Amino acid sequence: MGLLRKIIKKATRPIRAKRHGAVGERKVARKLNPLVFGKVEHRQINNLILVDNNGKSHQIDHIEIRENGIFVIETKNFIGWVFGSENSEKWTESLYTGKKYQVRNPIKQNKTHCYYVSKVIGPKYKVNSLIVMANDNADKIDCDNVINLKHLGRYLSNFDNGVHLTIEEMDYAYKKLISSASIMTNEEHIQNIRQTQREIKENICPRCGGKLILRTGYSGKFYGCSNYPKCKFTKKLTIFDLCRKIFS
Ligand SMILES: [Zn+2]
Repeated sequence: MGLLRKIIKKATRPIRAKRHGAVGERKVARKLNPLVFGKVEHRQINNLILVDNNGKSHQIDHIEIRENGIFVIETKNFIGWVFGSENSEKWTESLYTGKKYQVRNPIKQNKTHCYYVSKVIGPKYKVNSLIVMANDNADKIDCDNVINLKHLGRYLSNFDNGVHLTIEEMDYAYKKLISSASIMTNEEHIQNIRQTQREIKENICPRCGGKLILRTGYSGKFYGCSNYPKCKFTKKLTIFDLCRKIFS
């Protein structure tokens, strides 16, 4: 019985995660609506999929373009407590029931999104990364750009890093991004991610198709792309890799 429950849980986790994710995105999209916190000139893009030169897709939850900046927003609908720091590989989602899950650090995830948004609109425009916790559980995360949904309006209004975009510039960035949007469906995007994960598992670089080879760095062994320094993709050694090394 225990095993069966485990299998069912494992099988339904991505579905549950997906559903939670969609709820979070809707909450943020609603909050970005200027009607909620006063009229403000802005351009809003929800659920944008960009495909890079290697055919890899990147799904961006929201892009908010305002006079004071361009924000690439990653929405997280974690439940319970969330612990993590800017540079840690994984964050911990700790449910009130005591269950813990390791989740990918959204700051790192969004860094990739920001990179591709920048590539589309050009280096003239500074892109700001923002992680929004739809369940207002960002309090244990000590990073300026990880905020609670309830603070989103205030954060965007008060944000000031000296940037002032004109209406023309806002329209330019908006149109450029919309015209670069892929016609890929969410389902195709998920297939694309699975393909990338398969490639990484088989030690094929997902960025350039090069081979991932074992290298030694300051903090130990890791896999790096054979096309380094042109391609800087790296992969950490898994427990499986370490066991194989010990027993081979
Ligand atoms: Zn590579």
